[in-house]
Amino acid sequence: MTHIKNVRNVLCYAIGNGGLANLSNLLETRKQQIKGIAVLFLDDFFRTQHDVINQLGIGIADELIFVSTKDEPTTDYVDQIIDELHVRGIESPSAIVGMGGGITMDVAKAVANLLTNGGRAADYQGWDLVKKPGVYKIAIPTISGTGAEATRTCVITNKRTGLKLGMNSDFTVYDQIIMDPTLTATVPRDQFFYTGMDAYIHCVEVLAGSYRNVIGDAYATETINLCRQVFLEGDMMSPVNREKLMAASYVGGCAVATSYVGLVHPLSAGLSVVLGLHHCIANCIAMRGMEDFYPIEFTEFWKMADLQNIAIPRGVCRNLSDEQYEQLYASTVIHEKPLTNALGEGFDKILTKERAMEIFRAM
Ligand code: NAD
Ligand code: ZN
Repeated sequence: MTHIKNVRNVLCYAIGNGGLANLSNLLETRKQQIKGIAVLFLDDFFRTQHDVINQLGIGIADELIFVSTKDEPTTDYVDQIIDELHVRGIESPSAIVGMGGGITMDVAKAVANLLTNGGRAADYQGWDLVKKPGVYKIAIPTISGTGAEATRTCVITNKRTGLKLGMNSDFTVYDQIIMDPTLTATVPRDQFFYTGMDAYIHCVEVLAGSYRNVIGDAYATETINLCRQVFLEGDMMSPVNREKLMAASYVGGCAVATSYVGLVHPLSAGLSVVLGLHHCIANCIAMRGMEDFYPIEFTEFWKMADLQNIAIPRGVCRNLSDEQYEQLYASTVIHEKPLTNALGEGFDKILTKERAMEIFRAM
């Protein structure tokens, strides 16, 4: 291909209340086609949600692994899971399930790639380094916004190199998604807003960027429409709005897959790497500095936060050391593709060190 991206989408999806009940059939069908157990990754929140666990149709030989969401995934964490699976003799499962938020869905993607490709997680951080299809995998999002269920990446941090980068590959894309909006009813309100805003911000960045195409624009425009309905009209967590946001997350993920993000994400990545802030809250904090770059959406974002009565942390970059400011800048400008998409080839003439410092201080 030339500079025109060749985009891969998820193979199958099912959306609707109660859709979780489809999982056991899908796993059973898979086991009839291919010998092997299923490995299910489940967000730690569901450890005590027995009514949900009972619906998964987990077989006696299947493996259920709870994923902690205290920290975002690291290469060491993924490697440790692979080592444990090998110790238990689990080499080629018939299916992998990632059920939870972006963290759990990304861990499942990384494990599926490593089981068939071998090696360590850090070997595949980058673009198109995965050589073979991963294990067949199913995503079940339980919080909406990141679009991790739709994208060709799984974001992981290498603590040794400080690199926060995914395994960008067509093989990382899920084979099947089950979108069951009943699952998001228990999400805490603040988190629901922060993660939901990831879909909105992704698409604001896509539409303001220079790498655009008509399909990406169509996905992004509809995602923003859905987000407006969810966050500007009534309770964002009503059943109807939870279903709309689940759709927006998926469609927004498809939009990003056709293009790149913009300025918010590199700044947010800086906050994650240096201050350990999680992705979606870091995006919302970064929005404080975006008035000059995305003026209409800046105003709309704060209106949404106000209407839904959500507090965005303030002052996280006050009183940092010079070294921390240097690290913030370095871990922001490393993201050349989104910065070029947002500001053009000469992005460093616009986002100078001084300008970046001003933005961080304004957060
Ligand atoms: P998360 O996985 O960080 O979870 C956020 C919190 O919500 C956790 O405490 C979790 O336990 C809780 N939670 C999830 N579902 C719940 C439910 N139904 N009820 C109650 N609590 C629930 O969520 P996120 O914000 O979706 O994901 C962020 C991660 O996604 C980051 O690691 C980020 O790097 C990654 N990400 C990936 C992509 C991609 O394309 N792969 C895109 C954007 C972000
Ligand atoms: Zn994002």
